[in-house]
Parts: sequence; structure tokens; C-alpha cells
Amino acid sequence: MTTARLTINLHSIARNWRALDAMTAAETAAVVKADAYGLGVEPVADALVEAGVRKFFVAVAEEGAAVREAVGPGPMIGVFSGHMEGDAELLRKHGLVPMLNSAQQLKRHLEALPAHPFGIQLDTGMNRLGMEPADWAELRDLVLGQHPVLIMSHLACADEPDHPMNAKQLRAFKQMTDGVHVPRSLSATGGILLGRDYHFDLCRPGIGLYGGLPYEEARPVVTVDLPVIQIRDVAVGETVGYGNSWTARRPSKIATVAAGYADGLHRAIGGGIDAFSAGQPCPVVGRISMDLITVDVTDLKEMPTSLRILNGHQTVDDLAEAAGTIGYEILTSLGSRYSRGYVE
Ligand SMILES: *Cc1c(COP(=O)(O)O)cnc(C)c1O
Repeated sequence: MTTARLTINLHSIARNWRALDAMTAAETAAVVKADAYGLGVEPVADALVEAGVRKFFVAVAEEGAAVREAVGPGPMIGVFSGHMEGDAELLRKHGLVPMLNSAQQLKRHLEALPAHPFGIQLDTGMNRLGMEPADWAELRDLVLGQHPVLIMSHLACADEPDHPMNAKQLRAFKQMTDGVHVPRSLSATGGILLGRDYHFDLCRPGIGLYGGLPYEEARPVVTVDLPVIQIRDVAVGETVGYGNSWTARRPSKIATVAAGYADGLHRAIGGGIDAFSAGQPCPVVGRISMDLITVDVTDLKEMPTSLRILNGHQTVDDLAEAAGTIGYEILTSLGSRYSRGYVE
């Protein structure tokens, strides 16, 4: 092995989708925005179709075109950013369904693609995307006359089950949509875990499919293996890496592996994580460089040729915690330098 290797278990993604699907009586879509959270939208969408997914969501129309390529003509592909200026041709050509976010988008859509399916996104308090209650009150009759295929909103605090915002948004969503005969969707991964009041007709998990919190029971999906470039002896009192941030307290063996913050292993991770050799943890020491990480392998019986930094024991959320961020950001920043392998 000469380059860092990212292995994505498609079987685990399919299992996670099935498990989330089984938690609700609703239909379960799959969110594959940002290149399937950095894991490669074509193989991931392919595997999900195989598992039974019939509805996908992406952030922008360009991503939807790539998903259409991967999944063929059947599945619905929804676009969260709606119908943006210049999108009409992409939406039409690839049969994408925009989730319209404003009066302006509604007008644009009905003018450019009058018979083309669309959904509506409502803002229930997150103030990020979607029509506000006042817009909706005004446009509702017009919209319903055009037969939207979905009405959706998004929860701001679903990863905190006790947060009062959840119930507040649920009330707002019901107020805006009760009695409307259109399929409704409120929940992503976190909302699925909040229970059936939040499920409505369609759920839209993303992170849970890819093995991340808040879905604690998720099967891990990614492993990352880093080739060892060099192993050296370091005497007591010698330091390792930029800023001399680590000092040997015993005669040590330090392995230098080929990956760093340019590969999404954020510099902020600092200490507190391990790299594994055949399951045995070895502490990462010194600062993470752009392309290099140093690991204390003194306690290994045999010197390794590679070390694993992401696995079922040390997950994207463990790395995220060490870096002061969330698993979503670790996944989506893994980047293009890895050689990728897929377990089918
Ligand atoms: C990203 C996103 C999702 C998926 O969220 P997860 O927390 O990854 O499950 C669902 N809906 C919308 C609107 C999103 O932006």
C-alpha cells in the first residue's frame, strides 16, 4: 500500500437504510447530497436502489444529474435547494423534483416547467430554507391546485431529543399542513429517532445511512488505512513534529504514516486518538501535519506496514469529538487523495 485507503462498506449502508426504514411505518428515502456525504454517490446510490430505495434527495440540481446517471429513470430525485435561476434545463432533462422554497421559486417553476413535478419546503422555525407561514398562507391554494408531490420541512435540533424546538416545529408543521392531501415529510435521521409523531409519510435519513450519530446503532461504514512511510527510534527527551508538542518519556518507536489534514484528518484532532495495528491501539502523538501523522508504536510486537485510523472502534464521531466538530464534517472532508475501495 502506497496511498491512504478509504474503504466503504456498501453492505453496511444498505443495512443501515433497512434498519432505519424498519423503525417507521413511513416510506424511507435516502439523502445522498455532497457526493453521498463524501463516500461516492454512484456506488452508494446503486447499492441503495438495490436495497429498495425509491426516493433520493440531493442539495442542488447538478448533484441530482449525477444521481440520475447512477440510478436510471425510475427513482424520484428531490432537490432541497428548489428551482434556482438557470436550473430548468437540468431539472427537465434529468427528471429532478425541486422542493420549492419561496414565492419566487414557485413562480419561476410554474413559468419555466408548468407540468413538471415539484415539492414544497416549508420553514417551521429553522430559518434556513422554505416558505414562511405567511407566504404559505397566501400561496397555499395556488400550490395545492398544481398538485405538489411532497410537502416537507426540516428540524433544527432533532439530534437533541429533549430540545423544546422539536415539539415547536412539529406543531408548526401540523398547523401548516393538517388536512392537506399531499404526502408530508419532516424527519431526517434525528427525527426518525424522535418517534412516530415525527414520521408522517416519508423520512429522509442521511448521516444514519453512513454510520454516524445521532443513530447510535448504525453499523460503521468507513475504514481508513494509512501506509507507514518510516519508523524511527526516539530517545527520552526528544520531541516529535511541529511545535515540539510531544516529548518521549521512554525510548520510543514512532511510525510516520501518509495522510494528514489535507485528507480530512483535521489538525484540530490533536491528541486523544489512536491508530490501530491488527486491532491494537497505538496513540497518535505530535501535531497532525498536512500529509503526515506520527504514531507511537513502541508497544507493538511487530512493526506495522500500515495503520488503521477509522474503524468500528474509532468512528467518524470519535474523530469529530477530538476535533471539536461533528461526524458529518469528518465524512465530507475525507477528500480525493485516498484510493477508494467498496465492499459490496
Ligand atoms: C441533509 C438533510 C437531510 C439529511 O439529514 P441527516 O441528519 O444527515 O439525516 C434531510 N433533510 C434535509 C432538508 C437536509 O438538508
